[in-house]
Amino acid sequence: MSQPVPADLFPPQLHVFVRDWLSSNNIVLRSRDGHVLIDSGYGRHVPLTLALLRGERGIGHAPLAWIVNTHCHADHVGGNAAIVKRYGCPVAVPEAEAPLVERWDGKALLYDYCDQQIERFTVDHVLPPNTTHVWGDLEWRALAAPGHDMGALVFYNAEHRILVTGDALWENGFGFVMPPEIDPAALPATRATIDMIAGLDVRVVIPGHGEPFTGVAAALDRALRRVAAFEADSLRVARHALKVNLMFSLLDKQRMPLAEMQDYIARVGLYRDFNARFFGLPPAKLAELLVGELERVGAARRDDGWLTPADA
Ligand SMILES: [Zn+2]
Repeated sequence: MSQPVPADLFPPQLHVFVRDWLSSNNIVLRSRDGHVLIDSGYGRHVPLTLALLRGERGIGHAPLAWIVNTHCHADHVGGNAAIVKRYGCPVAVPEAEAPLVERWDGKALLYDYCDQQIERFTVDHVLPPNTTHVWGDLEWRALAAPGHDMGALVFYNAEHRILVTGDALWENGFGFVMPPEIDPAALPATRATIDMIAGLDVRVVIPGHGEPFTGVAAALDRALRRVAAFEADSLRVARHALKVNLMFSLLDKQRMPLAEMQDYIARVGLYRDFNARFFGLPPAKLAELLVGELERVGAARRDDGWLTPADA
């Protein structure tokens, strides 16, 4: 389904390091006025992120002027602290996320609440929605893109019709959304954000995960179908959130002891709270259900007492 993105869709000062599901993509915007990095990946991958940034497609030994974040989930801001240490640059985050980072709200930001590891960083500058910024000699309009993350921004460059979407739109779907019982605004906001993006003239999307893509209308269609399925079944929304978070933690840890899965489900906030709210299962049963789903979709497998990613 992925069409290769012709090189001429991006101006030469823009480079995307396509990462994986544990680390967000990193976008480097080079300029004589100062280089900018959008999103910094996950903490576990900091050595690779620093190496890419230092490399010839990155900025070499030049200084970094800014780290900018689409939103403050651990897989997008996990490299912030280490990059600030190396480059001494300021960090800009969406205005609505700044207070959460300032008080290091591990529940709202889904850090310890989802068993995600992250080194603390500080906010130097906030990005309000509907403001314009010049990064890499290009004008970027910051637009509110609530849904997966209620404070998220997307960045739109009208000249080249490029949209940096973070987790608000991927080629196949978008980042998990909180069920209506947890946040009644999340699903309606997700739909409104997809509609907002549909109203922009976009030729190429740089998503937070996966390759940049040009089939924007088809991606918006798929996203709307997913929203409709979620709207029809909030248990499905809850199950999906737990499944993708467990898969994220499995990619982080590389293997998890099956014998301890029930304790894990009982201990980590997201699973504990969702179980109480939606499933009402003994933790061992919910653990079995989630592990079974990851196996069924070919994402994970059981191996000699361990749960591992299928491709490990
Ligand atoms: Zn996210």
